Amino acid sequence: MVSTVAWPGFHAWSLLRKHPVGDPPTNQSTKGPRKIIHIDMDAFYASVEQRDNAELRGRPVAVGGSEARGVVAAASYEARKFGVHSAMPSVTAKRKCPDLIFVKPRFDVYKAVSAQIWEIFAEYTPLIEPLSLDEAYLDVTENLKGMAVATEIALEIRAKIKAATHLNASAGISYNKFLAKMASDLNKPNGQAVITPKNGPAFVAALPVKKFHGVGPATAEKMHRLGIETGADLREKDIEFLVRHFGKSGPYFFGIARGIDERQVKPDRVRKSVGAEDTFAEDLHAYEPALVGLKPLIAKVWRYCEANQITGKTVTLKVKYADFTQITRARTIGHGFRSPQEVEESICSLLGAVFPISKGIRLLGVTLSSLEPLADTPVEQLAFRL
Ligand SMILES: [Mg+2]
Repeated sequence: MVSTVAWPGFHAWSLLRKHPVGDPPTNQSTKGPRKIIHIDMDAFYASVEQRDNAELRGRPVAVGGSEARGVVAAASYEARKFGVHSAMPSVTAKRKCPDLIFVKPRFDVYKAVSAQIWEIFAEYTPLIEPLSLDEAYLDVTENLKGMAVATEIALEIRAKIKAATHLNASAGISYNKFLAKMASDLNKPNGQAVITPKNGPAFVAALPVKKFHGVGPATAEKMHRLGIETGADLREKDIEFLVRHFGKSGPYFFGIARGIDERQVKPDRVRKSVGAEDTFAEDLHAYEPALVGLKPLIAKVWRYCEANQITGKTVTLKVKYADFTQITRARTIGHGFRSPQEVEESICSLLGAVFPISKGIRLLGVTLSSLEPLADTPVEQLAFRL
């Protein structure tokens, strides 16, 4: 979860006090279940590149830098067949797929397409919550067209996106955000799927937790150690157990294990910061392992920034010790950070100032704030630093 915005999971908690464990998911509204659509463009950056350059069509394409420290930002479906995926080091990608064609990202074009699809969404509802340039939640419970069936709305939106942009979108339709997000993956690419209140709990029960939205690799590993592999395993754990092991995400996990997610679709959400943190399996005692632990967090924060075309002028390092005391150290620079390497440089010196330490480190976090558009950064320069 790349966000310092807490899951408002306590809704699930209060809801479940009214409805004992085992009840089917219910909605507190008297109007019946909500209708939420999650729209997700297929292999977005790579598809735009294939659209605009005929020579790339039908071929394995990776958007990103091919140099030693490069990372794949997006992979075409032809590349995915070789196991290439986003966030993979370019060197690994090239090894898996020797014919892989690297293309520099053109964020100005991706943003223009994003604006086009947003206009289409806005014909149906003002309740649009973007997750990145190519993904959004729409609440169409009461939509501007007065359409009763969300599945039909999703079909129309996807057809209009295709007509306007010549790109494919997939959709998930359900009664909450979590399930809509999971559903949009089911019939990808160029497909859609519905998860109804009736089949939601069974769907979640069968799903591996590592595929849950909101469960990253570190959390999945922790769940694995606790014997939780599927939604059904998660459902067996009580709320105290989940809060003890997963903190404020505990109530969220408790809810989604039952197909319950009361988070609203929040339009025009103004994000104040972007952060990621991780609790380590064993406490850290030295600078080097701490830095190793911070690197994936920096990468995660940066991926979010890049997908949303934002950056920040302030970076904050959070250190929680084994005794649960916590400190934060921040640095503000004169402009928005322009690359993950720049963030890492600041984090290195903030971390250095924390040492020597007298107790082990249990958790580390990285947050960017004082956010501003990333757009001011020259794309060329960015591309070489990917
Ligand atoms: Mg996508």
